[in-house]
Amino acid sequence: MNHDTPKFKCSCRQCIRTNEFCAITEKLSPEDREWMEDFYNAVLQTELDLNWHEAVSDGSWPNSVMILEGWLHKARESAAFQTGEVGNVE
Ligand SMILES: [Zn+2]
Repeated sequence: MNHDTPKFKCSCRQCIRTNEFCAITEKLSPEDREWMEDFYNAVLQTELDLNWHEAVSDGSWPNSVMILEGWLHKARESAAFQTGEVGNVE
């Protein structure tokens, strides 16, 4: 994932990291490069997921309140199931 175009060199954190990553991995064998790319993509996805959860938690994501209410409902259902109080969930 990189925002660079032929006429634009992006300087965001993600593009700088990705360009550095590619400079390092191009020196590796194809097998090692593939492993590193899979690992790097998993790290990026985890970071995206974390950023999304933080944005939902602090209310900056659209529909945060609706999402949080859904999570709270699920948490109440789960807690009720664990304590045997099924049916008392609002
Ligand atoms: Zn960028």
